[in-house]
Amino acid sequence: MIYNIYKTLLLISNKSLIKIILFFLLASHILVNNKINSSNISKDQFNEELLKKVLQGAGFNLKDANLATNSFSSAYPLERLTDSSYLILPFGDKKFDSFAISINGKEAVLITKTKKTFKTFITSTEYAHYFLEKERDKILDNKNLLEIEDHFIKIVPKNSNFADENIVFNKGDTLLNFLYIPGAKRKSINEALNAFSVHFNPKKIKIKTKGKIVRTNNGNILGFYLFLSKRKAIITYLTPAGYQSAKVHNKDASILLYKNIKKYLGQTTQPNKTRISLLNDPQLKKKNIKIMKGSNLFNTLKKHKQVDINDLANMIESLKKIYNPKNIKAGQNIILAYKNNKLFALSVKVNELREVQVINTDAGFKEYIYEKPVKKITLFREIIISSNLYVDSIRARLPQEILIDMVRLFSYSIDFQRDIRKSNRFIVFYEYLQNYQGVNIMPGNIIYAKAKLDKNEMEMFKFKTSDGENKYYNQFGESIRKTLMKTPIDGARLSSGFGKRIHPILGYSKMHKGVDFAAKQGTPIYAAGDGIIERANTNGGYGKYIRIRHNSEYKTAYAHLYKFARKIKKGVFVKQGQTIGYVGSTGRSTGPHLHYEILFNNKHVNPQKLKLPDGKKLNKDEMKDFDKIKADVLEKVNFFIR
Ligand SMILES: [Zn+2]
Repeated sequence: MIYNIYKTLLLISNKSLIKIILFFLLASHILVNNKINSSNISKDQFNEELLKKVLQGAGFNLKDANLATNSFSSAYPLERLTDSSYLILPFGDKKFDSFAISINGKEAVLITKTKKTFKTFITSTEYAHYFLEKERDKILDNKNLLEIEDHFIKIVPKNSNFADENIVFNKGDTLLNFLYIPGAKRKSINEALNAFSVHFNPKKIKIKTKGKIVRTNNGNILGFYLFLSKRKAIITYLTPAGYQSAKVHNKDASILLYKNIKKYLGQTTQPNKTRISLLNDPQLKKKNIKIMKGSNLFNTLKKHKQVDINDLANMIESLKKIYNPKNIKAGQNIILAYKNNKLFALSVKVNELREVQVINTDAGFKEYIYEKPVKKITLFREIIISSNLYVDSIRARLPQEILIDMVRLFSYSIDFQRDIRKSNRFIVFYEYLQNYQGVNIMPGNIIYAKAKLDKNEMEMFKFKTSDGENKYYNQFGESIRKTLMKTPIDGARLSSGFGKRIHPILGYSKMHKGVDFAAKQGTPIYAAGDGIIERANTNGGYGKYIRIRHNSEYKTAYAHLYKFARKIKKGVFVKQGQTIGYVGSTGRSTGPHLHYEILFNNKHVNPQKLKLPDGKKLNKDEMKDFDKIKADVLEKVNFFIR
């Protein structure tokens, strides 16, 4: 960066600023010389300190200079700034609140201060200049700026607990449905699914296929395996570079899965990351490499010119720290880069969102994960019920992932068996992730959803609370999450209640002290709320039966189960939405269904008429932001509805 600070000077009109930067330029030369003499200070620290000082010189206080430097390093590693990199500062005498660093002459990281926080964007160098010169107020909905949000994968703390669940595919089950539980991250699930798809089409998983899923306490997937034939199994597991999968022998699946999970959990440091490719430096010469069937990375690369065998071995060792080269398939995208006719870098494409890049540095090879920045577009869908929610949502081209989310979120207050009637409507406004070039990658989060039922209407809005989590609130700013769920089962998969002359979907009466949900055998049943398992055994006409104690007043009971989920027994704590068992027809039952009861002070109450207290309301400050977001969303929604 300092190498090109002269370029910066040309961009600054404020004379006093020039002085300050010249001063630091001098200081930096002293630093450089010290570095050469003592080599006490690493390039990372050097660039970091320099940037902080330049920012302070330009007008930030120490705290802001630190925050801004941290924001920058979340987008690009400071030690990878090259002599193609340079700093861009705003024009004029206006308050200093933004700056950019052009990484390679084409792409830039732009940092801007809003209120108390700093926002980080990826943009073109050209636009960074323009923005700092003319458009510093245009941050919202700016198509030229791509905001960097949280990294997709965070290393799970070493001592974190994980839980496993055995799964069996029944009719209608999908891998996605098994992988998804509330609280889990959509992006991770899609990635896990994609990694699995490299070896096997998830749509072709046969009935009775068995496997296991291992998750963290928060519901994030650490890995899973499926037995796909008598011998063949596929394991999929989390690594610092994302999910990877491998074909293994059935008998090794469990051992290998746990070995990989332990390896991942043993990682204590975050891998090096970048949001701008380290191979976009204009000084690099690049070559696309394809691995031939039957060959491997080492043998393929050693045939290339200007590749020193020792360098190559070191490079692959560096790669191995975050990516197993054995997972590279024939035809997978690999790029070799040369600088001054010397081997400089290797890049391996892991998936649509990620590459592993190994760079030749002064201190040997260093590995980075290049996480491609994505932008969100919003899509609108309207589902009109004509046969059932599942079929009608496919007809409306709603992604299955969004349907699952929507049903889960409405399950607190909608009885998906009895409340849905013909010509009822669901409206969904959701995000879709696209790459830089506008190519669709995967669905994001629901922004807004509305259920228009016969008896009532319900709305929910996505809102990021002060703790930084996305949660959902109704129009009054009350959390849609309630103590108990009205539909403690996958509501999208229920057999449609209406239109059938005879069906087992009884309502609540003196004789029938619960409500029934007709679903296929094996459909997962969720805990309606957090609580402790009070009973999990066979209970006469109820068949296999679970009862959960939620608090001093409420209990829920689930009957006719096919089987209990793993580790579900008396005394175990369960979380709302956790799978506790599977739909069956045990006990006195005419066909597979879930019989669901709610007890208030040990007396049966009608789940349909149950009035649970409203969820936690946003505080005054949050309400102000919420109302703005609500108005904005409703304006967009009304545009589509018209
Ligand atoms: Zn019943």
